[in-house]
Amino acid sequence: MSRRSQPTNVPEQLRRELVSLLTNFAEELKHDNLRRKVVTLVPAFHTLRDLGSSLIATDDSIGARDRIIAYLKQYPKIIIDGDELMVVSGIGEWARRVRELRVQYGWWIYSGVTFKQMAQNSDDVQEFRAIGIDPLLIKPDQYVLMSTTQDLEAAYRWNVLDDIRKQKISTKSKILEYLKKNIGKQVTGEELSALTKTKEWARRVRELRTEEGWPIVTKNAGREDLPVGVYLLESDRQAHAHDRKIPDPVRVNVLTRDHFRCTKCGWSRDMLSPDDPRKMLELHHIHQHKDGGSNTAENLITLCNVCHDEVHRH
Ligand SMILES: [Zn+2]
Ligand SMILES: [Zn+2]
Repeated sequence: MSRRSQPTNVPEQLRRELVSLLTNFAEELKHDNLRRKVVTLVPAFHTLRDLGSSLIATDDSIGARDRIIAYLKQYPKIIIDGDELMVVSGIGEWARRVRELRVQYGWWIYSGVTFKQMAQNSDDVQEFRAIGIDPLLIKPDQYVLMSTTQDLEAAYRWNVLDDIRKQKISTKSKILEYLKKNIGKQVTGEELSALTKTKEWARRVRELRTEEGWPIVTKNAGREDLPVGVYLLESDRQAHAHDRKIPDPVRVNVLTRDHFRCTKCGWSRDMLSPDDPRKMLELHHIHQHKDGGSNTAENLITLCNVCHDEVHRH
């Protein structure tokens, strides 16, 4: 491969240029002409900008957007200041490039704003701290690249998102509709934040799960294998109303007692497969809740969703 002939050390050359521009500026400062001072300083601004962007690559064909993602990829899951992205991009409008990287190119770049929103579910805070990001301390204009793998379906998802975002429906309905369009797919907190434009969306997700029985899982809620800050609707199916009010400790007792397996067919989560309609374990009341059956471990058994449907059909 032939290398383009270019100066061996562009950053050093730019640094020297900048120093000499600033040295010459000392003379300008002695004069009164404001306009002249400003005009003389302009090349120094440009040179400083060029110096910043030269740190990433000296190849002219690489644009600001490429430099931003190249920089972030070197520091995944680490908090990066917006100002750093300004330096490496060399442009004032770097924030717009970050958005393009996220929406059109599928990079999971989370902003400090989104971390704060996700942290409204206080039990998720620990998950973030575990990877070294404290959502309570991160600033709104800081960024984290959560995955170094490009999400190739993201552009399509963001189009869907845009349609739902414009609808005049409640925040909760928007979230549910969006997740239903992405069943079994990982959706980022950044998407839900953009979808709802409210600070409250994480709370609404929680309500959808705990109060309305939608199987929305996260790393912290049922799916250890998922990355932090990702939400996934396992199937288009609400838990039976009578199953929703079971206290968590009771739920844990029953699942543990039944070895996290369907007591009818033996299915367990490690058998999860795209072609198998069995997607989750649910608890069934032996004596129906509406007939006075209680939410106690003795009155509950573990069933997979398929067996559970079967039981209710009879
Ligand atoms: Zn079963
Ligand atoms: Zn049931």
